[in-house]
Amino acid sequence: MSMRAEAEELAGTVPPVPYVAGTWQTAGTGGTFDVVDPVTEGVLATITEADATAVDLAVSAGHSALDDGDWGRLDGAARGVLLGRLADLIDSRREDFANLESLEVGKPGVEPRMIDLPQAVQTFRHYAGWADKIEGRMIPTPGYMGRQTLNYTIRRPIGVVAAITPWNSPTMIGSWKVAPALAAGCAVVLKPPEDAPLTSLLLAQLIDEAGFPPGAFSVLPGRGATTGNLLVEHPGVDKISFTGSPETGHIVAVAAARGFRPTTLELGGKSPQIVFADADLDAAADGVALGIFANQGQVCAAGSRILVARSVYGEFVDRLVARADAAVLGDPFDQGTTMGALINARQLERVARYIQIGRDEGARLVAGGGRPHRSGYFIEPTLFADASNDMTIAREEIFGPVGTIMSFDTDDDAVALANDSAYALAATLWTSDLSRAHGVAQRVRAGAVAINGWSPLDPRLPWGGSGLSGHGRELGRAGIEANTEEKTVTVVL
Ligand code: NAD
Repeated sequence: MSMRAEAEELAGTVPPVPYVAGTWQTAGTGGTFDVVDPVTEGVLATITEADATAVDLAVSAGHSALDDGDWGRLDGAARGVLLGRLADLIDSRREDFANLESLEVGKPGVEPRMIDLPQAVQTFRHYAGWADKIEGRMIPTPGYMGRQTLNYTIRRPIGVVAAITPWNSPTMIGSWKVAPALAAGCAVVLKPPEDAPLTSLLLAQLIDEAGFPPGAFSVLPGRGATTGNLLVEHPGVDKISFTGSPETGHIVAVAAARGFRPTTLELGGKSPQIVFADADLDAAADGVALGIFANQGQVCAAGSRILVARSVYGEFVDRLVARADAAVLGDPFDQGTTMGALINARQLERVARYIQIGRDEGARLVAGGGRPHRSGYFIEPTLFADASNDMTIAREEIFGPVGTIMSFDTDDDAVALANDSAYALAATLWTSDLSRAHGVAQRVRAGAVAINGWSPLDPRLPWGGSGLSGHGRELGRAGIEANTEEKTVTVVL
């Protein structure tokens, strides 16, 4: 059987229903929605959407699990054992996760195998280690009305966390939300993306198998405007962790503000990749191409603004164009494919529209721009040169394989261009001058700056942005802090 056929068969074995309070909700009253294969345009699965009853049940099961269920009674070490077991189970099903993610997202198989799955497994292992290390602090003060005091803090789980994920990397981004929240002792209600819910349903199967108590974790497949909206508006949700577009992020933030509930928002990006004249141009071209074309450019941190020192501009553009032209578009399951399909017809139409805008604005199209003649939501890797930072293609997130190339003269110009954006998520710098690299890294407005490479996306390293890219940090210690509340206890001695 071919790998594609195996993956399609696997897609049919994942329960296509919500998982709530330790039970698959086969008798739900919600409608259904189809998961469409971006390559064949065929239907991969038909899923029962979580309705208001399922949302209510998931949130109240989370509270029961915390307040008087087994989950709330477990100490950190016991939670760590469960998370470690879950990490092992995901590890043992890496191939299945990778195949499902290629199938429903349309990304070449090498990407989930090299990035998403290692990341997800490491993230669960990392937080398995954190679960028994969540500590408070002793804080000395001068005392109280002449008497000494003993002051300390403890960290308590924040409660029921709603985790909402996007379709571009559902396994990895799901792990960034689920693992720290469970390690902190929260109950998690995960709302996966409607375009790619299958890996999250497989995760629910493994959470069940790992032995997490009922209510600690629920998955509510459904569309954003229905299930997602019901979840963020639910008064029982204590915190919302959202990754997605700024437009939806705004809706989520407003809903959260109505209930004074905290949020972590990981939104979009228009990240700069700055190539200085002293860079190794071949290595930089490889890295910059990866930065804009990986996952067909559907990456929040995609380096879509490519800023190149004027003295090497022509040489560098030629190198980058050669990399774009060498891309092999095709079925993610075919050997040799380096670029897959966009997620859906809407995204294809959106990217094509931006390419037209780039042409209309007068940027010079130097690579791609067209669609191959075949089924599926494919578009060629595209580069616009001689652009300016006030063009729409330099200001708005395209979320597709479209790079906008600009030139700069001095380091100050490069920093000014990089920072002239509503987004501030990531940046890459390409230079052989260490002082310049560190100097510019301090000045560029971004949550993560990588020098001569891409950020290794390690679960120990905090991740997040500011401005239109959102607020708060995920991963590392920040992931625990975001899912706990500090309580102060004072004893008057
Ligand atoms: P989206 O905002 O359309 O959807 C994200 C999630 O929100 C989905 O699960 C969706 O069902 C849900 N949703 C939609 N409307 C909702 C509503 N009214 N209430 C509650 N939930 C709702 O984004 P997308 O198209 O899935 O993903 C692309 C966007 O995500 C891009 O802008 C990209 O930059 C961003 N992204 C950011 C990061 C990051 O870490 N910063 C990572 C990946 C993607």
